[in-house]
Amino acid sequence: MSPLFANMPTTIFERMSARARETGAINLGQGFPDSNGPSDVVEAAAKALIERSNQYPPMAGIPELREAVADHYRRHQSLDLTPNEVIVTSGATEALAAAILSLLTPGDEVVLFQPLYDAYLPLVRLAGGVPKLVRLAPPDWRVTAEALDAAFTSRTRVAIINTPLNPSAAVMGADELALIAERVIAADAVLISDEVWEHIVFDGLKHISPMALPGMRERTVKIGSAGKIFSLTGWKVGWMCASPALTGPLSRAHQFLTFTTAPNLQAAAAYGLAKEETYFKAMRSDYARSRDRLAEGLRQGGWAVLPSQGTYFLSVDLTASGIDIDDVSFCDRLVDAFGVAAIPFSAFYAENPVTNIVRLCFAKRDETLDAAIERMARAR
Ligand code: PMP
Ligand code: GLN
Repeated sequence: MSPLFANMPTTIFERMSARARETGAINLGQGFPDSNGPSDVVEAAAKALIERSNQYPPMAGIPELREAVADHYRRHQSLDLTPNEVIVTSGATEALAAAILSLLTPGDEVVLFQPLYDAYLPLVRLAGGVPKLVRLAPPDWRVTAEALDAAFTSRTRVAIINTPLNPSAAVMGADELALIAERVIAADAVLISDEVWEHIVFDGLKHISPMALPGMRERTVKIGSAGKIFSLTGWKVGWMCASPALTGPLSRAHQFLTFTTAPNLQAAAAYGLAKEETYFKAMRSDYARSRDRLAEGLRQGGWAVLPSQGTYFLSVDLTASGIDIDDVSFCDRLVDAFGVAAIPFSAFYAENPVTNIVRLCFAKRDETLDAAIERMARAR
């Protein structure tokens, strides 16, 4: 086996979901909703499955989805993408792999932000990249100029950001993005911008794509996921958007990763992306309501809940809640003894992990959240 994979554990999401399945615990670990997504989008997929071709679609995606993605970002984020600048992938995970593998040459430095989504570092290592980590700190996880200056050098080829950020649930502001953009431009680097949570932003905050910033249109690879936008995480339909100079290398990697993605799910994603703003607004307020329900219930049970500005997640601070064991031991105890699966924050660190925070997914029905609140109150 490649040494890269030999010592790699199974991802924390799969491990905790397997534990939840085995023990019958409430699964607030891996981030997925317990609804079946918008029924009209699911019906559009079913119809496309029966009425349309089930053979290989074009490698870069079906034209109507490429068009729909460009149009969606024109309407929602004022971006001026053309359909030729969109490549459909099998989930954002494949887009990340294609971007990291095609843009890096071994030895290139890559700026990453900790806590980091678990797929980034193994992919950077696979590509021979040299990770340079920027540490973000609770409770607000803000990006500072000093931290960036310690990570960016003239050898930086790529930076990878995620906003809203999984797992911290922080949304990057225009000022933070401008600090990053300034350094990406100075290093003549490319920014891989993982925006899978772009529609799940709360409290009147606005998601900003760094692609919209001056000087960044030509040097940003913007990654999105229909699975997240439509609460259909199993679909694995994603995309990457970039200027023509970047779509060349991106397509070359994509052709030997998956080549293409189920055409019927692509058609349904295209249908869904055309929905009006009211749909996305309603989705955001539903998730905000679930966030508040879980946060309030946990607080009443004595838990110190950290702020959540976006994503499906909120976190609790174990130390401030009076728990003096580390996050992994706590999550083991929580799932085995109290029947709730959660994700230890340390899984999102490459070095010096934060070990006193636990992530919980609130994208669940009220009764599921209420049952979890009641079990969590006993776990303190
Ligand atoms: N990036 C981030 C930050 C994520 O949270 C996720 C999944 N939750 C992904 C990428 C993967 O998205 P997909 O399921 O579309 O591959
Ligand atoms: N991104 C999801 C999460 O953060 C999990 C995705 C996966 O299991 N790979 O929970």
